Amino acid sequence: MSVRLDHIGIAVKDLDAALGVFRDLFGLSFKGIEEVPEQRVKVAFLPVGDTKLELLAATGPQGPVAKFIERRGEGVHHIALHVEDLEKTMAQLKEQGIRFIDEEPRQGAGGARIAFVHPKSTYGVLVELCER
Ligand code: ZN
Repeated sequence: MSVRLDHIGIAVKDLDAALGVFRDLFGLSFKGIEEVPEQRVKVAFLPVGDTKLELLAATGPQGPVAKFIERRGEGVHHIALHVEDLEKTMAQLKEQGIRFIDEEPRQGAGGARIAFVHPKSTYGVLVELCER
């Protein structure tokens, strides 16, 4: 099983303001903003070496990012691990007692198929598995 860090998700209130910091001040490149309507979120990916930052801003009050910011404030939201075979990895982890938020893979930003692991299984860290 070959795994690498795909990206780090950061929850922000204002995407333009966050781009002003990470793109304009830190000089990261930026590939545009994408909306994921079913998650009520818009995202911007900023490549950094072999990985990326994913800035996440809520588009409505009910989505998971809005709720995260309400509870915990802005900041690191999740880390995403790239896996080659999402179904197989999920099945192996479930066999070992790892809990998932998403029981089945779903569509994520950037054309990826993703599933979130429950943070109770990963020391409080929200882990996204993604396959591209
Ligand atoms: Zn992500």
